[in-house]
Amino acid sequence: MRSDVTQYELTAPTTLAAVLAQLAAEPGKHTPIAGGTELMVALGVGRLAAKSLLSINHLKELRFIRVDDDAIHIGAGTTFTDIRRNADIARDLPLLASSASWTGSVANQNRGTLGGNICNASPAADTPPALLAYGATVTLISTNGTRTVPYTEFHLGYKRTALRPDELLHTITVPRTFAGWKQHIRKVGTRNAQAISKTALACLAKLDGETIAEIRIGAASLADRPLRCTGIEAALTGLSIAKADLEATVRAGRAALAFEAKPIDDIRSTGRYRSIVAANLLEEFLRSLVL
Ligand SMILES: Cc1cc2nc3c(=O)[nH]c(=O)nc-3n(C[C@H](O)[C@H](O)[C@H](O)COP(=O)(O)OP(=O)(O)OC[C@H]3O[C@@H](n4cnc5c(N)ncnc54)[C@H](O)[C@@H]3O)c2cc1C
Repeated sequence: MRSDVTQYELTAPTTLAAVLAQLAAEPGKHTPIAGGTELMVALGVGRLAAKSLLSINHLKELRFIRVDDDAIHIGAGTTFTDIRRNADIARDLPLLASSASWTGSVANQNRGTLGGNICNASPAADTPPALLAYGATVTLISTNGTRTVPYTEFHLGYKRTALRPDELLHTITVPRTFAGWKQHIRKVGTRNAQAISKTALACLAKLDGETIAEIRIGAASLADRPLRCTGIEAALTGLSIAKADLEATVRAGRAALAFEAKPIDDIRSTGRYRSIVAANLLEEFLRSLVL
């Protein structure tokens, strides 16, 4: 059943400081709303529990892409379209650019934000696998100041995050240290566009000749939260992709994935299907390393 909009309140303070002051004054009372592409869906189907919405969509302080020598800093209010159009992200963070390009529709990309994708905390969301593989950090802000945490520590469980009630996600910082690495990302859904993923894998590998010197993998829907696959990474580090060794390396990767993945069953897929498809995606990546 649709929500009764008269039961909801929307406030749009004009500055970030004013938003933070309101969150601090009544912690837990207000819910930030950015592009609204998650929250308005919940409103439409009568499932939006939050009654007081605090708009952050118009805040220029949260919408930026800044590049320095070591990293690209992306404001939480940056849209998928902003990300798709940014040449620095396309060059240095192609996995993030790709994930932004297949999130929802063009209309959705014009409105939906990176911060909303992260804070909504769905295990199936499109940008977290790339951000996990790249080793992003997130900076959270409140009236008490800022704190920066590794993105791997942000998701605490199904739809649970490290955000405190008085905090906003402010910046996502992604290192620019992956030039020369092999990079691969693939999403599997019911169709090519406008589909939430059944699973997705973002993979980075640094080769030393025919040996996997370093490997980093982020996954969607292989756990109750976006997952950095450290077990698979450990199993594959140091293995050979030489022709004679490749099948054994693929087997080791598939076995490690079967061990580490704890995917949930939901309306989009079964956990078993997700594990099998993710193993296929990992194998695809490993075989691509020898091309
Ligand atoms: C038709 C359609 C298709 C979609 N397809 C995809 C898809 O393919 N892949 C995918 O991953 N998603 C998809 N989505 C979901 C959605 O578009 C994304 O998750 C989007 O990134 C949400 O961003 P938003 O700014 O609209 O979030 P909002 O709806 O404004 O907010 C989402 C949540 O994040 C919180 N939040 C937002 N910004 C902040 C912040 N800075 N600090 C703290 N909390 C914050 C809000 O309080 C809320 O809990 C789709 C949605 C629709 C309607």
